[in-house]
Formats: sequence, C-alpha cells, structure tokens
Amino acid sequence: MSVDRRDPASRIAAHHSTGSGIVRIGYPIGARRVRVVARQQLTPNMLRLTLGGPALAGFHTYQADDHIKIVFADPDGTRRDPVPNAEDALDWPRPLPPTRKYTIRRYDAVAHEIDLDFALHEGGLASTWAVSAKVGDEVTIAGPPGAKAFPHHYDHYVFAVDDTALPAVARWLEEAPADVSAHVVAEVGDAAERAYPLASRDSVSVTWLVREGDSMLAETVRSLRLPAGRTFLFAAGEAGDVKPLRTWGQDHVDALVTGYWKRGIAGLED
Ligand SMILES: Cc1cc2nc3c(=O)[nH]c(=O)nc-3n(C[C@H](O)[C@H](O)[C@H](O)COP(=O)(O)OP(=O)(O)OC[C@H]3O[C@@H](n4cnc5c(N)ncnc54)[C@H](O)[C@@H]3O)c2cc1C
Repeated sequence: MSVDRRDPASRIAAHHSTGSGIVRIGYPIGARRVRVVARQQLTPNMLRLTLGGPALAGFHTYQADDHIKIVFADPDGTRRDPVPNAEDALDWPRPLPPTRKYTIRRYDAVAHEIDLDFALHEGGLASTWAVSAKVGDEVTIAGPPGAKAFPHHYDHYVFAVDDTALPAVARWLEEAPADVSAHVVAEVGDAAERAYPLASRDSVSVTWLVREGDSMLAETVRSLRLPAGRTFLFAAGEAGDVKPLRTWGQDHVDALVTGYWKRGIAGLED
C-alpha cells in the first residue's frame, strides 16, 4: 500500500492544532550512518546517547513519540542495512537484520544531532550495546517511519508509562502548549529513576510508582479523577502492564496504547 509522505511537518502541525483523533502521517524514511558524539548517565538506569553527523541533515521528526530503529550487525559482524528506494521508504534485506526501537528524545537540526535515552536492563542487544558504546562509534539508524499524531487541544491528557516511554513524555511536555492539563503516571524499576528529568508545568501532575511485584500502572490510572471534557490517554511500556488500559474510559477517552517491550521476548515487534 502506498503511503503519502509529502510535507509531513505541515500536516502534523495542522493536526496538532485543529485535528481530531489519531492520524497516521508518513515521513520520507531514511537509513543513516551516524556516530556517538556524547554519553550522559541521566539516572542510575537511564543512559543518554547523543548521535550525530552530516547524515542527519534533513531528518524528519514532528511528533513527541517518534522513534527510529537501531540496525545492528548480524552476530558474525555482517552489516545488512536497509536501502532507501524511490518511494521515500526503505528496502529491507531478508531475513531482517536485528533492530530495536528508540524514541527520538531530541533532534537538533542545526547541530545534526539526536538524543536517545536507553532504559538499561540485563541481557538486551541494544541495552548492552549502549552501555559499551564509545564516543566515535558508528551506528545505523532507520526511520522514523512516520507519526501516529494526536492533537494538542484535548481538555486533558493522561500518560501511563514505564521507564521506556519516559523519553516520549519528556519530549511531549516540552513541545505541547504551555497550558496543557495532564496527569503523568510513571512506573519505574527503582526509586532513583524518579530523577529522570521532566519539564514541570502548572497543570501537569506527575505520580511516580516504584514497581514491587505486579504493576500498579493500570490500577493507578483507573483511580484518577479526571476533569470534565475529553481526555487523551497515551500508554506505553511493558505490553502486559499497559494492555488493561486499552478498554479504559472508552466513552470519554481517546487512547494510543502501545506495548514497547514484553517480558521474556527479545526484539518485540509492535
Ligand atoms: C515505539 C517504541 C519506542 C521505544 N522507545 C524507547 C526508548 O526511548 N527508550 C527505551 O529504553 N526503550 C524504548 N523502547 C523499548 C525498547 O525498544 C525495548 O525495551 C527493546 O526490547 C530493548 O531492546 P534490547 O535489545 O535492549 O532488549 P531485547 O533483546 O529486546 O530483550 C532481551 C530481554 O530483555 C527484556 N527487556 C526488554 N526491554 C526491557 C526493559 N526496558 N526492561 C527490562 N527488561 C527488558 C526482554 O523481555 C527480553 O527478555 C521503545 C519501543 C517502541 C516500540
């Protein structure tokens, strides 16, 4: 199926200001070879890598939860990167190379840099790579493919996330209008992760949950007292933890609920 990838910046800006619901808007998709230009340990478990280089000129990202795929080499070191085609999309080799998705926390169009924030954990291909990545190392990124854009004019927003979707919330808080009303419910693996930097706003309250056993994310969201009007729910994190929110408040809540990872599954594809 062909995707309209023309002028995504204007189409997304229009949807943010006057649209309704969730709209898929495609971007021209690139595959870029970039370098690690900086490392910053944001919290004990959240590592920011800044990637940069001339290949990032003309990068497209207009929605706070836009993501790229990091394209890894095969276990024997062979690189099989996707190749841009005439449709402004990518031709992927088969079988697919190993990839992992990360949110574009920041894009600097002048410095040609992006920030990716890695929630570190045991045993992951991407997490292990990030821990050992050195300034100067090369990496291939593919995408972003486009946005699932949602407007900036809901009466209220609820963000229900774990560590992996904190970068999307942090970017949204910086890019949304100053007077937005929102609850952020963030469930993290350790109390020290509450230091992850989020912009503070008068009408935004942040509730931190520290996971001990079963997730309390869905239950906490369900107990929120929502203001009158229409609410938008953005829920992202471990697939089983966010799944109960798919059916929450369907008569007055529009929702984008995404499993970002799944316990026991490597390289979950959503
Ligand atoms: C659209 C999108 C955006 C995302 N943005 C971000 C982001 O900005 N930052 C971020 O950190 N993650 C983000 N994720 C989640 C990330 O892609 C997954 O966590 C991914 O599985 C990590 O890859 P890995 O190679 O480290 O682990 P994998 O090789 O995929 O998994 C190895 C094992 O680790 C487990 N595992 C995977 N992730 C975690 C975790 N976070 N905590 C504990 N155990 C885990 C798996 O269940 C598996 O058992 C995003 C996912 C999506 C779909």
